[in-house]
Amino acid sequence: MRESKAKKAERIGNILRILKETYPDAKPELDFNNPFELLVATMLSAQCTDKQVNKTTAVLFPVYGTPEAFAALTEDELAPYIKGCGLYKTKGKNIIAASRILLEQYGGEVPNDRDALTKLPGVGRKTANVVVSNAFGTPAIAVDTHVFRVSNRLGLAEAKDVTKTEQQLMENIPEADWSIAHHWLIFHGRRCCSARNPKCESCTVREYCSEYLKNQKKQK
Ligand code: SF4
Repeated sequence: MRESKAKKAERIGNILRILKETYPDAKPELDFNNPFELLVATMLSAQCTDKQVNKTTAVLFPVYGTPEAFAALTEDELAPYIKGCGLYKTKGKNIIAASRILLEQYGGEVPNDRDALTKLPGVGRKTANVVVSNAFGTPAIAVDTHVFRVSNRLGLAEAKDVTKTEQQLMENIPEADWSIAHHWLIFHGRRCCSARNPKCESCTVREYCSEYLKNQKKQK
């Protein structure tokens, strides 16, 4: 039987309440001191762990921490600093090109504007959402691999792609919670609901999780 709107809203409310209680420490895991550092760190984080990015930027930012400094670099000069993050040729090229555009078109500032950000090379909607929400406090839900997997398992979304998942999360979660819910879902994905071995038996939200309830029914 299909879940009524009221039941779904109640279930989602319970999930959000419990995730909030479970992860009171939820926050961005990339280290940054300003919007530009967050932009570069997020660009480096594609297919790389936050831990490795933080290790990289701890060395990189004290030397090259501004759009001016990156814009003046060649790809070969930047490469040794970012090699550990993987895909370094593409990432380096994009970071340098994005820094030049920030200098030429935005006075060296990162715009608090998702559409402007997604026009920068190497910046997709996910990266733009991370920057506007974490650097500027603009409500947004960046859908990365954890958020996509966990929200669709939980039934906070029922979508096959990240764009639809983001739309549905924005419909189902109060706007004031968009940014923090993104962190709750990432923390839950890393600590409990992993891709291969979700720890359903110790999961704090299992009684409201669509996937868990569906599997329980199958076993009966
Ligand atoms: S019950 Fe299992 S599938 Fe559902 S959120 Fe928890 S760990 Fe993930």
